[in-house]
Amino acid sequence: MERCQWCGKDSSGYGMVVLTIKEDEPSQSICEDCYNRYMADMLGVEDYKDFEKEATFKDCDGIDHCFQIGKKIHSTGICWEAVEFIEVDRVGYSFEVH
Ligand SMILES: [Zn+2]
Repeated sequence: MERCQWCGKDSSGYGMVVLTIKEDEPSQSICEDCYNRYMADMLGVEDYKDFEKEATFKDCDGIDHCFQIGKKIHSTGICWEAVEFIEVDRVGYSFEVH
């Protein structure tokens, strides 16, 4: 279990970001929400939280796959991610689009 150094939220570690703001300062481990808020403020991005956080799709055998949807705001663009968590720390399919 990891804890965000900015908001204190517990995380499984998935989606945590190691952020170094200045070269001589130590890096900080922060959650995806804190990272996106920081980047959105810095880059002037608005309405970045309004999207479906979960989606279920059937594969060609008719089996449902439930994905957790997330995105990270980077200075070069937005990275979308869909991850299927089979168990707490076990991932099935995952897709990422930048
Ligand atoms: Zn946080």
